[in-house]
Amino acid sequence: MAHVVVIGAGLGGLPTAYELRHLLPPQDRVTLISDQPKFTFIPGLVRVGLGIDPLAHFQLDLAPLAQRHGVELIADKVTDLDPTAQRITLDSGQTLDYDYVAIATGPSFAFDAIPGFGPHGGYTHSICSPAHAQEAQAAWLQFLENPGALVVGAAPGAGCFGPAYEFVLMAEQILRKKGLRDRATLTLVTPEPYAGHLGVSNVNHAQRLTEALLRKRGIEVITNAAITAISPDRITLDDGRTLPQQYAMVLPAFRGASFIQNTPGLGNEKGFIPVLPTYQHPNFPSVYALGVGVNLAQPEQFRVPIGLPKSGQMTEAMGMAVSHNIAVQLGALQKPLQTPTLEAICFAEFGDTGILYVAAPVLPDSATGQRRYSYAVQGKWVVWGKALFEQYFMTKMRLGAAVPWYERLGLRAMFGVDLVKPIDGPPQKTPARASV
Ligand SMILES: Cc1cc2nc3c(=O)[nH]c(=O)nc-3n(C[C@H](O)[C@H](O)[C@H](O)COP(=O)(O)OP(=O)(O)OC[C@H]3O[C@@H](n4cnc5c(N)ncnc54)[C@H](O)[C@@H]3O)c2cc1C
Repeated sequence: MAHVVVIGAGLGGLPTAYELRHLLPPQDRVTLISDQPKFTFIPGLVRVGLGIDPLAHFQLDLAPLAQRHGVELIADKVTDLDPTAQRITLDSGQTLDYDYVAIATGPSFAFDAIPGFGPHGGYTHSICSPAHAQEAQAAWLQFLENPGALVVGAAPGAGCFGPAYEFVLMAEQILRKKGLRDRATLTLVTPEPYAGHLGVSNVNHAQRLTEALLRKRGIEVITNAAITAISPDRITLDDGRTLPQQYAMVLPAFRGASFIQNTPGLGNEKGFIPVLPTYQHPNFPSVYALGVGVNLAQPEQFRVPIGLPKSGQMTEAMGMAVSHNIAVQLGALQKPLQTPTLEAICFAEFGDTGILYVAAPVLPDSATGQRRYSYAVQGKWVVWGKALFEQYFMTKMRLGAAVPWYERLGLRAMFGVDLVKPIDGPPQKTPARASV
């Protein structure tokens, strides 16, 4: 009997636990450890921050889901992981041995990088966690009573930009609908080299469509921007400019979870976990990783450093490859190992319109510098597409499904995108307890 543990029950961890349960025989145990009692559909937090939808709309209780779908849930926080002894320690002091672990703990937030940054004692809001989004919403509703200078953006080193564009463009629409638009100035401040870059260079039409939309909505855009200090009413950039602010929502750079940062050799200096094409750790064969916690380096250098986005769909693809590969290692599947393609689709909702960004794959071929294809398209249907996808994803999580065959077929038929692909050659089995 094998014991597989998934740490983190977010967009990556919950579907991965379901898929493992689906692939492994009943005698193998699948344990899911979550420091939160609820699953949260993180992309919905933009709407929560702006008071459009309640948080409950994007959350599901984990305990009944785990019970219904044959996953053992431990509601606790992992504080330590010994990848040699293959042992996990929880906040409660409990320890847990595993044969394989899939780490899906998402981001921690580098608010300490800039003085005055963040919602914990600083002067900016965030929508990166459920608690941040609720705090951002309360302050946003106050801002609407007396609107003024609104600054939205991302800090140097950030790799997740889409939510900043969604926030500023949806905020603009709310102000317009309430007849308050002329009382507010809107500024987007971003380290990206151009608007619509989103951490991925040369996506066809992305810059043109995004810049045109921001211009049309009267939003000032400052690119290549490095925020260096934040005070209650000002944001300072490294070129000396200061921007007045009454409400600021600034996305931080991400790091990995603290136990990864504290375990020698498990992650890099930011707590991101290095992985092989199978998403197995190169030095600890019992460890797999997926989602935001994986080390995927930005291949380009810009004036202000930025990260590579790890989108929800890329995270799902990583989870599918990880569960497949663990099932191969345990002998439950006799198939080639898989790797995620990292072909990414991002539905960005901008109020009464939206832009679909597609990069297949996100990282261009290292030899040719080319992608299979990339494009951005704009339309109201993108907003409907995003709402439909959210409903579909929440339904899947209720039903205990990860990425069913019809979703894989649909992604290929509609967008030409595959989530995973086989790794050439026979399965390379590596015993979890190999010496390191
Ligand atoms: C505001 C926002 C909007 C976004 N919008 C989009 C979008 O429109 N489209 C898109 O494709 N992507 C979007 N993304 C990116 C997407 O949300 C991420 O790619 C995805 O959530 C990554 O999944 P994950 O499992 O790595 O992390 P998460 O979904 O964050 O899950 C990590 C989980 O691990 C738990 N955890 C952390 N540490 C521990 C510990 N020590 N012990 C136990 N549990 C722990 C956390 O509490 C959390 O529940 C958005 C991101 C943000 C912040």
